[in-house]
Amino acid sequence: MTIPLIVHGAAGRMGTRILSLAAGDPRFRIVAGVDRSAGALRPLGVDSDAPLLTSIPAEPGAVVVDFSHHTAIAGIAQVCARHGQALVSGTTGIAPAELDTALATVAGTAPALHAGNMSVGVNVLLAIAARLARTLGDEYDIEIVEAHHHLKKDAPSGTAWALADAICAATGRTRADVVHGREGDTGARTKREIGMHALRMGDVIGDHSVYFVGNGERITIGHVAHTRDLFATGALRAAAFLHGKAAGRYRMAEMLGLE
Ligand code: NAD
Repeated sequence: MTIPLIVHGAAGRMGTRILSLAAGDPRFRIVAGVDRSAGALRPLGVDSDAPLLTSIPAEPGAVVVDFSHHTAIAGIAQVCARHGQALVSGTTGIAPAELDTALATVAGTAPALHAGNMSVGVNVLLAIAARLARTLGDEYDIEIVEAHHHLKKDAPSGTAWALADAICAATGRTRADVVHGREGDTGARTKREIGMHALRMGDVIGDHSVYFVGNGERITIGHVAHTRDLFATGALRAAAFLHGKAAGRYRMAEMLGLE
């Protein structure tokens, strides 16, 4: 059975990649793209005759995939709840309380999933980092290193923070234990601190490494993004996972069998 797909934020960088990949994927039938102006998807470079609309259409059993802007989430959630349509949200920058309300709204009548990073590999890395931190304990120093292209405006990356948060949750630390870079008379390293280091260089899409060092050994885990399509691929995998599921909230880790 094909999955009816509606992409919100259809004209954006992520929206067009998701639609382009879905157009060539027999699991999906593109119902429509939704963005700020109406038209057709083909001029956006998407191989589909589906329309570009300004509001989410009612389509029984459809999955709405949203990569747009944080201000849109409440309205999207209400429409999904009203039509009983599943929601995969990858939009970042949504205030935690607002995101929680929106997901709860959808989850009353349909399945809902949000992930700030839709990469399958990154979500596996988060689970492994938490597991290693918990298992290795205080004898191992933990340092996170991320690298991105020279145009990136924020540091550290959201994914580096997600790694720190996963390690904190697994070991009873908090963000107050994260130490950014080191300079000058820093004193000896404490056991609790998590070192955080951001490199900015060239056209790097996104590299993340976590070091666990102690007892005469070093374990390094990491993820390297080769293409931005990995987020689109993860979003489509999440859409396929949610299709036909019972109403409720779901997580990437659950989809990947990590919990
Ligand atoms: P973009 O600016 O290229 O595209 C956003 C699109 O959404 C635009 O076409 C815009 O017109 C549309 N839009 C914005 N508000 C809208 C509204 N209220 N109604 C309808 N359409 C609206 O941005 P992008 O690079 O595609 O990223 C989109 C979002 O996805 C951002 O929040 C970004 O941080 C996030 N993102 C998440 C992941 C992940 O893995 N979760 C990966 C990449 C990007």
